[in-house]
Amino acid sequence: MKVCVRCKIEKDDLEFHPRGNKFQSYCKPCSCEVSRAENKSTKIEAFEHYGGCRCVCCSIIEPTFLALDHEDNDGAKHRKEVGGSGTRLYRWLKARGWPDLRLRVLCHNCNIGRQINGICPHQVLLPDRVTGNSLGSEPRNLGPNPSQATSLV
Ligand SMILES: [Zn+2]
Ligand SMILES: [Zn+2]
Ligand SMILES: [Zn+2]
Repeated sequence: MKVCVRCKIEKDDLEFHPRGNKFQSYCKPCSCEVSRAENKSTKIEAFEHYGGCRCVCCSIIEPTFLALDHEDNDGAKHRKEVGGSGTRLYRWLKARGWPDLRLRVLCHNCNIGRQINGICPHQVLLPDRVTGNSLGSEPRNLGPNPSQATSLV
């Protein structure tokens, strides 16, 4: 039997992770809670370094819904380099002193919306873009009118 230094409950040795030929001073549920809290804070730290703890699209602030998104869509390549995503990515970034990568904070909804749609449905549903007609989706030309441009020559 052993007393966990965190929850102060006396538990069977099996309730502790082994460390060398002894046991950790925290019981399994406690060490699990602690590492979860550490992971959570690294994640929030990561968000704060890459634009703030809120979705750039819908402004949701709940960290559980948020993740880092690669602005250049090179996420797959980067995940390969890092060897994973999520906690692994946040730790990787932290270990490198938050490198200047093109990352932004996006919630899972907006992320999936973008993957399926090419653009998050939040952006598509802005009133001036709703045409109800797929032929109406031509990009609007915001530059100078080409016929005007030629008349200036
Ligand atoms: Zn405990
Ligand atoms: Zn969002
Ligand atoms: Zn969105």
